[in-house]
Amino acid sequence: MSSPVSPSSSEELFDRARALMPGGVNSPVRAFGSVGGTPRFMVSATGPYITDSEGREYVDLVCSWGPALVGHSHPDVLAAVHAAVDNGLSFGASTPAEAELAQLVMDRVPGVKRLRMVSTGTEATMTAIRLARGYTGRNLVIKFAGCYHGHLDGLLASAGSGLATLALPGSAGVTEATAAETLVLPYNDVAAVEKAFAEHGANIAAVITEAAPANMGVVTPDEGFNAALSRITSAHGALLILDEVLTGFRTGPGGYWGLTGAQEGWTPDLFTFGKVIGGGMPVAALGGRADVMDYLAPLGPVYQAGTLSGNPIAMAAGVATLKAATAEVYATVDARSAELSAAVSAALEAAGVDHSIQRAGSLFSVAFGTSATGVHNYEQAQAQESFRYKPFFHSMLDAGVYLPPSVFEAWFLSGAHDDAAMNRIYDALPAAAKAAAEA
Ligand code: PMP
Repeated sequence: MSSPVSPSSSEELFDRARALMPGGVNSPVRAFGSVGGTPRFMVSATGPYITDSEGREYVDLVCSWGPALVGHSHPDVLAAVHAAVDNGLSFGASTPAEAELAQLVMDRVPGVKRLRMVSTGTEATMTAIRLARGYTGRNLVIKFAGCYHGHLDGLLASAGSGLATLALPGSAGVTEATAAETLVLPYNDVAAVEKAFAEHGANIAAVITEAAPANMGVVTPDEGFNAALSRITSAHGALLILDEVLTGFRTGPGGYWGLTGAQEGWTPDLFTFGKVIGGGMPVAALGGRADVMDYLAPLGPVYQAGTLSGNPIAMAAGVATLKAATAEVYATVDARSAELSAAVSAALEAAGVDHSIQRAGSLFSVAFGTSATGVHNYEQAQAQESFRYKPFFHSMLDAGVYLPPSVFEAWFLSGAHDDAAMNRIYDALPAAAKAAAEA
């Protein structure tokens, strides 16, 4: 029975949710497991702000984990969604907007010759892996420790020790047979990749990598790392899958590839996209070489499908978001990211907190106690003084700034983060830095 009076405080809402859903959430990090305390239940968001069930407004540095690049509730995006809703929610048939969104993607990422829309990043990477296996007729996949590609069984494998270690399951419920088909290598280690190919090259279907890792905190790919992956995979007849679910259309119109591959002269065989491509609606996609993509059904033998794929409301949001992501938006996000990371660093320094700012384009995160080495791989990311983040996070939250509830996540900005929003963050930083120092 539902209670007669609707709960409204986050505590009450979380109590109710915990009785109804595992951990009270539908995606684990929302439960504030690593920072503790009660997760805030959000009810609305506009521009750079998000508001909880008790009417408290926060400057949002999560931005829905990336999608809200142009700011929450951007008027063009809302208008496009409202117009699409009026025409019906879902048709289970092709709609004109799908090609419109595909064209906008290809204009920005020319290596995408064909695109398949799906609903989540997990589906995009899962399909890319199946496609790579179908296309090459090989079984093994290389991923890097600390890279997240969604919750498909084969890619939940975490760090294997040493080089080319056959991974053990990283999650209960993943069979050893599945995990054994993923080779987990240390990030930024070209020699490890070369060794894996020397040993298993004839059976490696693909290397999948985040274009710039942002799920172990942000880690910058060493100069030439992604280019080396492109060179090695193509020399061995394997595919390179560049996962731009998080970075795509965020670190610039051409994603992180646009900042690197476009200049360096390499292009992955497949890209995966998500987040910004749907502007907050469930859209993701995979795309790339036409000969590879045409291996997908109905043309090819690799099956993939989705009842709600290319949903008209979601497509409308994606089209409007990419159109609203102007050069000015990217300039704002870049500038705000530079200002904010410098301000965070200055505050931590003033409080005597050892740290490094980890950066990839406009994405950044803070890694505590790592100034001597920075963070170049998962081992270093895990070795940081992560306990300092909890008090830092809660001090910011109390001051009205909503940070990602884990030190291993990037901080997300939008084109709507104006001076007023930024000043609220800057005002909160000294106390948060002091709290981190005292941890
Ligand atoms: N790849 C990357 C790089 C991601 O960051 C994520 C999600 N954060 C995914 C894939 C999975 O996307 P989704 O949560 O939409 O399944």
